[in-house]
Amino acid sequence: MNPPKKVLYFDNAATTPLHPKVLEHMMPYLTEQYGNPSGVYSFAREVRKGIEHAREQVAEAIFARPGEIFFTSSGTEANNWVLKGVVETLQHKGGHIITTAIEHHAITHVSSALSKQGVEITYLPVDNEGFVSPSDLIAAIRPDTILISIMWANNEIGTIQPIPELSAIAKSRGVLFHTDAVQAVGHIPVNVENLPIDFLTMSAHKFSGPKGVGALYIRKGTKVNSILFGGAQEKNRRAGTENVAGIIGMGAALNLAVANLKEEQEKVTMLRDYLIERIETTIPKVALNGPRAENTRLPGNVNFSFDYIEGESLLLLLDMQGCCASSGSACSSASLEPSHVLLSLGISHEKAHGSIRFSLGRENTREEIDQLMEILPKQVKQLRAMSPLAEEAETSKAEYEL
Ligand SMILES: *Cc1c(COP(=O)(O)O)cnc(C)c1O
Repeated sequence: MNPPKKVLYFDNAATTPLHPKVLEHMMPYLTEQYGNPSGVYSFAREVRKGIEHAREQVAEAIFARPGEIFFTSSGTEANNWVLKGVVETLQHKGGHIITTAIEHHAITHVSSALSKQGVEITYLPVDNEGFVSPSDLIAAIRPDTILISIMWANNEIGTIQPIPELSAIAKSRGVLFHTDAVQAVGHIPVNVENLPIDFLTMSAHKFSGPKGVGALYIRKGTKVNSILFGGAQEKNRRAGTENVAGIIGMGAALNLAVANLKEEQEKVTMLRDYLIERIETTIPKVALNGPRAENTRLPGNVNFSFDYIEGESLLLLLDMQGCCASSGSACSSASLEPSHVLLSLGISHEKAHGSIRFSLGRENTREEIDQLMEILPKQVKQLRAMSPLAEEAETSKAEYEL
């Protein structure tokens, strides 16, 4: 395989590059430390120790206890576990789940599968910046509601939900609360100690860790059925031989991320605001999707609708210049349906189709944004020049001005 050419990488919400220090921590577990952590001999116990250390690192990062952290194969698996597990565990209580219209597919597609089995799902709407309203949540709770699942921060438009308020509502009504915090953990402060959260999902590859490993925080004493059966791994709650190197990498990556959280958050936020400003001042007829108020938008998220163009065409032009961005989420860009998240904001299909997400990370620089801004305005102009819609709008505007 040829080494990939240097790219301008603005897709950190899809995945992040592995931190070199994290790889260093993982290496021994990919090579000489190959023992099965369930083994009884000391060679295996060394590996077990590594896993337990990683568990402590993950717990510490979110102010949980190590016994409350369960490693999984991904954020997706952790989300599946909560939804499917709680439905089974609380069958006797009822079959109603509340979630939102803007969750990742790792929630929405699980919900729709469950609804085929008779579970009722309420999808809370969001306002034009992507916020769930606490009063809508209160109104949606029923006697048979068994779970509320609301993402901490949205992967497409960056909206950070008022999790303290929403989880407190769940608690006051005695309903379990889950949050998909995959985009939040390692990027903004997350603390489960003083919040009534029962379940929280994390994924390593979103914070400079390896792919294929995630974790579920389950508050001590919270009952939830397992979805994977087999060996006694993860205290008999999640079977399957551990992804040892992945788990070590997750612990190391999260440890690094929280150690530098404040500086990274500030740095990435500045880059984000710089890119937003550059786009708004150089390209006409654009609209930022998602919120603007301080601490309500993920540090790295920039999402714009460009009038009169197809986001997919712009992505292809960007790709030709070695620039990686995304339209909708990575998972939906293979389909032609516009993103369910953007449509939930109440914007038109056209605007949703003309949207691009640039997600910035700790490795991005101001120079890279300047490089992007040398190509992006030209490409938008080029695509608009070919668009009959843009021409029509120009003509009608001209007529209007006459
Ligand atoms: C990436 C992502 C997931 C899925 O995590 P994987 O580890 O890739 O399965 C779930 N939820 C959100 C919000 C995400 O951004």
